[in-house]
Amino acid sequence: MKQVADIIGELGAKKNVYNINTDTGWSCLTHDFSHWMHHEKYRGNKRPHCAEHAALELRMTKLVLEKLSKIKIKMEDLEK
Ligand SMILES: [Zn+2]
Repeated sequence: MKQVADIIGELGAKKNVYNINTDTGWSCLTHDFSHWMHHEKYRGNKRPHCAEHAALELRMTKLVLEKLSKIKIKMEDLEK
């Protein structure tokens, strides 16, 4: 379990620290990170797992899948 304390410190938001588990795979990492982004975006004024959070997590999931597929293609090119 790693903390995003560096990012939070840069933003000056020391009150809330989110733990992001980097040992459980991309889906959990994306979900955990979406909680942090949702909190930062709405400053705690919206509940976790609300419609806005779901939309944010979906956008993050699409971004992660897109980036991972590009990395996979580059790795396959290197193997040729
Ligand atoms: Zn959640």
